[in-house]
Amino acid sequence: MKALALALLALGASAFAEEKYAPMHRLTWDEYAGTLSHWRKTYPKLVAIETREMSGLTMPVFLLKITDGSVPDADKQVCLITTLHCGPERSGATGALALTEWLLGDDPLAVETRRRQIVLVMPIVNPLAMFHTDRFRNEHGVDPYTGLAPDGKRWDVKALALRKPEEAPELAAVLSVIDEYKPEVHADLHGTGLQEYALDQLGARRMYQGQILTEITGSAYSNYALRPWDWRVTEEMIAAGRDAGFPSDRFEADAQRTFTGPELAPLGAKLWHGAPLFYSAHYGYAKYHTMILTQEVAWEQSVVARMQGLLRIGNAPWGEERTAGYPVNRVKHFIGHFVTAYGSTAAKRRASRVELWEKQNGFVLGLLYPQTDGRDSFVLATSAAAKTAAASDATIERFRQTGPELKLTMDQTTPAPEGAKIEHGIGFRLRLPYRSPAKLAVQLNGTPLAQSAKDGFESWFADGFTQVQVNVPPAKAAATDLFFVSCTYEPDEKRTTGWMPPAAVQAQNATAKADATPATFTDVAYGAHFRQTMDVWLTPSPRPAPVVFYIHGGGWGAQDKTDIHQHLDLRGLLDAGISVASINYRFLADANAAQVSPPLQWPLHDAARALQFLRAHAAAWHLDKARIAASGVSAGGCSSLWLAMHDDMADPRSADPIARESTRVIFTATKAPQPSLDPQQLVEWIPNSNYGGHAFGYVGKTRPETFAPFLANRERHLADLRLYSPIAHASADDPPAFVICPKQDKPPVKGESQTDSSHSAVLGLMLQATLQPLGIKCELRYENDGLPGEPSLQEALLRALK
Ligand SMILES: [Zn+2]
Repeated sequence: MKALALALLALGASAFAEEKYAPMHRLTWDEYAGTLSHWRKTYPKLVAIETREMSGLTMPVFLLKITDGSVPDADKQVCLITTLHCGPERSGATGALALTEWLLGDDPLAVETRRRQIVLVMPIVNPLAMFHTDRFRNEHGVDPYTGLAPDGKRWDVKALALRKPEEAPELAAVLSVIDEYKPEVHADLHGTGLQEYALDQLGARRMYQGQILTEITGSAYSNYALRPWDWRVTEEMIAAGRDAGFPSDRFEADAQRTFTGPELAPLGAKLWHGAPLFYSAHYGYAKYHTMILTQEVAWEQSVVARMQGLLRIGNAPWGEERTAGYPVNRVKHFIGHFVTAYGSTAAKRRASRVELWEKQNGFVLGLLYPQTDGRDSFVLATSAAAKTAAASDATIERFRQTGPELKLTMDQTTPAPEGAKIEHGIGFRLRLPYRSPAKLAVQLNGTPLAQSAKDGFESWFADGFTQVQVNVPPAKAAATDLFFVSCTYEPDEKRTTGWMPPAAVQAQNATAKADATPATFTDVAYGAHFRQTMDVWLTPSPRPAPVVFYIHGGGWGAQDKTDIHQHLDLRGLLDAGISVASINYRFLADANAAQVSPPLQWPLHDAARALQFLRAHAAAWHLDKARIAASGVSAGGCSSLWLAMHDDMADPRSADPIARESTRVIFTATKAPQPSLDPQQLVEWIPNSNYGGHAFGYVGKTRPETFAPFLANRERHLADLRLYSPIAHASADDPPAFVICPKQDKPPVKGESQTDSSHSAVLGLMLQATLQPLGIKCELRYENDGLPGEPSLQEALLRALK
């Protein structure tokens, strides 16, 4: 009983398997040839059938040409459908037959497609494989899809030639069709198969119901390079399949992986496994700019649906285009500008496309740079002479001079042009980033163009751009080797660029004042280090102008030359006939890194050098060398006082003309400066002093942390203090000084601790006590000093220099 039950169970399972996975009908040669013959007889005006080559000596490789014979061919798109892998991938071939059946029928899309297109179908490229061997290869061992043969790949990719084509008649048949028709699109259909198994392993399982594969649209799993260049084409096909109930895989998108490639090898397993290889379907792309695609087919009705999605594209204008057909007319590009096919019919555009595609290797493209609002340009040189001439072409130069562009930039990736004349006309596509620009004017080589699809330009809004298509007819195109398309327009929308920081930050940085008074020269280098630069504002004065020489604060380790706007009103100075320079200088950290000791000498010597550099440019910049005042805040004030009190550092015998210039100034106006850096002196003036250790090489997190060892080791620094502490240089020939300490919170008294010991008015008081006995005027102002007026650096500088 037990045995019987088990036997019955086994029988039941087997019956289920037989029912669900029953053998599928295996198409015979006679059925295939008979079907084609039947179609030819039934639809004589719709289909023509040719034999292109013989497979296995006796089986023709058929080509079906499907189109409405009552409509002239001149304006028809050409779509080629092949099955380069048929044999074991049977569903691709039977899918092509199902598609043909639909194409010959009454469906309105089929009728429309026959009117607008020539659909070339090679349903069974490799009949030997399909009907006899179930292998990929033909009788000579050549796989038409890959070009692989026992002696290696048959493709010479550079020459686009097949070695021993007589041994690959099936593939030669496909290539002959591509050469004859130069199709707009070539779809190669693949499918499921049992190719892993030898014939004697297959037995009855040559094909059975239920063998499927994950369908993919646009690409094969074996070679991701065989796909439409425009993913929108693929998406339309996917949508058509999905609407019919057949979902598609989207290769790397669904796998969520980016491509692989030789340089990415170390990332190996993290990349998408598809790889770009040269397979036979690349032939049409390489020779004729044919859009190629492959499909994996599990169900015939799925590929019929997805191919309907493709064929529909060929019947109507694509995307941003105006003429019906597949998106194949752009043959060369440079930064979003395109060379396009020319022609009023599909056949003329095809001839132009193929010609330009062939010659584009020698086209050099360019445009005026930077790209500028309200203007666009596009240059094509088709000869080496034209490429050279473009650099100095008068028309291009004239246009450039009407705008702010700096130069003509040419694509450097193109090899030397070959000087080929263009016979079939040419087009150019520019795209303006506005919906309805006003006063659109387009010129070709300086001659205004009229609106014309034949000889002129067209413009329309599509895909977010105003598309500008320039059409150059054959006679005009053949007459020149340099094409310069220029375009001007007024944008219908004002778009500004330049992100602005929050209002509070702008207020703190005097951003509005800075923007309102741009420097005449920015980042003028006075030394080799990136910090050795200055900004210069020149006043338009008839006489050589006096100068404010400004040194920013920040403890010689922070801020930059733009902080001048927080302390001075440059517009006011310029209006008063005063020119201004504001400098950057090397920081203490830069000097420490270079092991310069004490580090302070770098910012101080940079200030001196920058001042000499400014004087050396006095003639060029119309400056009065004899009327230069130094100004600065905090550490910048210290540097200013050091310059003012130091003897002239000019070296009259130097070979360097800049070094021969004077470092003297006639006045200083400083805010909260440090007149002394001697730690002993500082604690005598202000007991809680802590400033200066960092300037002599002490590194720490806080000023007190660096000051204590500085004070303790003072003896070691005496020589340096004599060199770099400003008042160590005080003498009777020093210029008058103005010092302001705006944040002083109590009357300044020597020997009292201060809230801000580094910026206290006591420091100004001590400067005054040093200079006044020498007969030098030193004005000190601070908050609530009881004196009249509203003192400022600005006012002091105006008084001194005006
Ligand atoms: Zn395949």
